[in-house]
Amino acid sequence: MADIIKLLPDHVANQIAAGEVVQRPASVVKELLENAIDAQATCVKLIVKDGGKALVQVVDDGVGMSHTDARLSFERHATSKIQTAEDLFQLHTKGFRGEALASIAAIAHVDMQTKTTDAEMGTLLKIEGSKVLLQEPTVTHKGTSISVKNLFFNIPARRNFLKSDQVELRHITDEFHRVALAHPSIEFHFYNNSNELFNLPQTKHRQRISNVFGSRMNQRLVPVSEETDVVTIMGFICKPEFAKKSRGEQYFFANDRFIKSPYLHHAVVAAFEGLIKPDRHPGYFLYFEVDPSTIDINIHPTKTEVKFEDEHTLYAILRSTVKHALGQFSVAPVLDFEHDPNLDTPYAYQDKMAILPKVTVDQSFNPFENQAGQGIFKTKTKTKTDTSGWEQMYQGLESMDSIEFSSVQFESSEHPEPDAYTDQEVLGQPSGITFQLHRKYIVSTIKSGMLLIDQHRAHQRVLFEKFLKDITVEQGVSQQLLFPLEIYFLKDDLNILMEIRQSLCNVGFAVEKLGDECIKVLGKPAILAENDIEVLLHQMIADYKMGTGQDDTSQAEFLARILSKNMAVKTGEVLQVESQLALVNDLFQCKEPALSPFKKLTYITIAENDIENKFA
Ligand code: ADP
Ligand code: MG
Repeated sequence: MADIIKLLPDHVANQIAAGEVVQRPASVVKELLENAIDAQATCVKLIVKDGGKALVQVVDDGVGMSHTDARLSFERHATSKIQTAEDLFQLHTKGFRGEALASIAAIAHVDMQTKTTDAEMGTLLKIEGSKVLLQEPTVTHKGTSISVKNLFFNIPARRNFLKSDQVELRHITDEFHRVALAHPSIEFHFYNNSNELFNLPQTKHRQRISNVFGSRMNQRLVPVSEETDVVTIMGFICKPEFAKKSRGEQYFFANDRFIKSPYLHHAVVAAFEGLIKPDRHPGYFLYFEVDPSTIDINIHPTKTEVKFEDEHTLYAILRSTVKHALGQFSVAPVLDFEHDPNLDTPYAYQDKMAILPKVTVDQSFNPFENQAGQGIFKTKTKTKTDTSGWEQMYQGLESMDSIEFSSVQFESSEHPEPDAYTDQEVLGQPSGITFQLHRKYIVSTIKSGMLLIDQHRAHQRVLFEKFLKDITVEQGVSQQLLFPLEIYFLKDDLNILMEIRQSLCNVGFAVEKLGDECIKVLGKPAILAENDIEVLLHQMIADYKMGTGQDDTSQAEFLARILSKNMAVKTGEVLQVESQLALVNDLFQCKEPALSPFKKLTYITIAENDIENKFA
């Protein structure tokens, strides 16, 4: 057989490597920002257009490159940052693999202008799909500017895989946050489609965090610091009362590099134990300084997953440091740059032991216990076929004085439909007789037996279809507030609200932006109570943050789903008979009544002959 193995041409190898390094515009942002920092820039500008799909540009005032280096920088494995494998254990730079620029140039149109301090002329270089189109001297200032246009122009499959501009911009913003938070001593500017999103002057960590997330973040922070032989830890945790339902602001940095570490995250969560509810997430900004030889950054091309030599010790130190900080915070006011000395702790109290506040939970509390027919309704019937335990349903019903059992009758049918379970057409109309069971289900009768509707899921379905229509057809009815509400948000959260503002308007919200951190609500959807507006908006932001980029549904569908989830009647709410009837009717007017917007069953049916069999 003839020889068949060939070396891949460079441009193909680069495209393959690009698949690992560049997933989306945000990856380009990360690589270019890191290169600027490695080049000792003191001021970095990030400019993006159309979520980075049309343009990602980074301009720095760093050391720049010579004519030859400029050309070489786009070769694979071309780096000025390491020379030998041993250097990997003494890393002081963000980059070292020498593949970012080569990868980016393989899948985009790249322009670079660069000049070193002592050179008179700089260099202009144009590359498209790894081909150098132009290299010539140019007049430019010290530093480097790289523009990356039309990402994935030669890989349509990857380009189609990109999400909406808004979603891509969120990913870019996340990367920008990470780099900006790691380097407060560098000035950053971030423009999107000519709007300035961030203008971050040189400062210290705490002020940088506030500049990124808004001044309201400052009052939430508690400082953390610890110095040991293994690690120096400094940074901030958010006070327990600000723990959020979504992951929120959770940042670890090791030697000024943002890292992900589920293991160390666990250490922080463990320190917060007992101080926050189990479904809340603590916020933190924690910076570790370790000896570069004790950390392996080379285990993943994006370099966010790292391996610490002595992870267990680090875990223990981190946990006790955070605990200590939380304890101190509970007796002493936090040192603050906007701090009022009049509020200082009296001297006599300064050395007192910290007392950790305790949250006690009544494990045996059951919100439904006081309802009529206590504990009798063990409704295990999750699926239509699982009817076990139904016989118990009828025990004790007589004692329920709120429901007239005699009015609940099955319409008898000589020949029950055998396949009437899922097909709503065959179900026949619900009887118009309903009662609420366990403050969770609505029971009604149909031709072939009985219908058990999950009130929360059913209402979700009804609202979902309504909101989806409102958002797409722009017809939601808005109810004006007599007194407009002012609601404060973290900067970043407010940006999210502005992203989805049009959809919010379409469902009936009327909002105006007041500065960077506040909105004025002038109108609301009619079905939403005024008191619930603030909670709902915060919850929506949390859901939106958790959900973006995770599925392929349109923004309209996504928002309709979040809104329906948050506005639907909850399990545990008592529904008046009229509301029960209205809900049942609305549900069966829906296009897809059988499933909630989260693909869960909204109702089950129990065939009359199944019930009869139980009595046999
Ligand atoms: P790495 O950062 O891993 O070395 P890159 O492909 O990102 O690899 O960059 C290759 C080389 O190009 C770098 O090692 C550096 O010498 C040079 N370089 C890249 N960006 C800049 C910049 N903004 N300023 C100065 N030099 C740069
Ligand atoms: Mg690099």
